[in-house]
Amino acid sequence: MIEKSTIQKEIHFSGVGVHSGKKVDLLLRPSSSGEIIFRRTDLDNLELALDPKKIETKSSTYLVSEECKIQTLEHLLAVLYIFGIDSLIIEINGDEIPIMDGSASPFVQAILSAGIMSLPERKKSIKIIKPSSLEEKDAAFSFSPDSGFKITYSIEYDHPAIQRQELSLSLNLENFIKEVAPARTFGFLKDVPALRAQGLAAGGSLDNAVVLDEKSVISGPLRYPDEFVRHKILDLIGDLSLMGSPLTGHFKAHKAGHSLHLKAIHFLLDNPEFWTYI
Ligand SMILES: [Zn+2]
Repeated sequence: MIEKSTIQKEIHFSGVGVHSGKKVDLLLRPSSSGEIIFRRTDLDNLELALDPKKIETKSSTYLVSEECKIQTLEHLLAVLYIFGIDSLIIEINGDEIPIMDGSASPFVQAILSAGIMSLPERKKSIKIIKPSSLEEKDAAFSFSPDSGFKITYSIEYDHPAIQRQELSLSLNLENFIKEVAPARTFGFLKDVPALRAQGLAAGGSLDNAVVLDEKSVISGPLRYPDEFVRHKILDLIGDLSLMGSPLTGHFKAHKAGHSLHLKAIHFLLDNPEFWTYI
């Protein structure tokens, strides 16, 4: 059994929401509650607990209640998951986690310098014991038993800078920091008008995303030749963290996105015969 953990001291971030375009301050505060609680400081400290039943997706993963929402949780959640942080107060004065540089590295570096602290409370982990698969249009998702936490992701884009990319990683903190965290979110210039018409991508820029025109990447050098599929792995870790426990199993996604990731999480939560607590 492993213990729940929190951070040793407060961490402050400020930045812009990639979808809202608004500047926000984010404060991570140590907590001994054993839960991840969001607190909207711009709305009289309204609190929302992280709950997979209150998650929706549309270009990002967000937490909703009748009173408010908090968008673009996935990169921060992936980092909390990989560090094993499950007891935290997340204060924010707006409705979106800042996008920082489009990757998870700024969150990783800040947590590494703040330090982690174990709590007396023990936590369970989830082990996949039976395989299954789900589909959505031409996307597919499957899970099967494994000795570690493994992700295999493949994507296919009819774009010369991406094409087909596939990567399989058995994840731990070390390789997450090196192979996954620096991978930035990406977007296509041609999609920007439609996204902005839906109130999305208002804060997206060449400084916080890998941006592609019809032929190439126009936002400077890539951090990895296959940065795109690595970012998809980051998004999937953030979404899988909504299961609420460390995971042992092999999760495989093909051409998926937040919507199918969430469908898989709901499937697992509704069908506990596919996994067991250990
Ligand atoms: Zn992302």
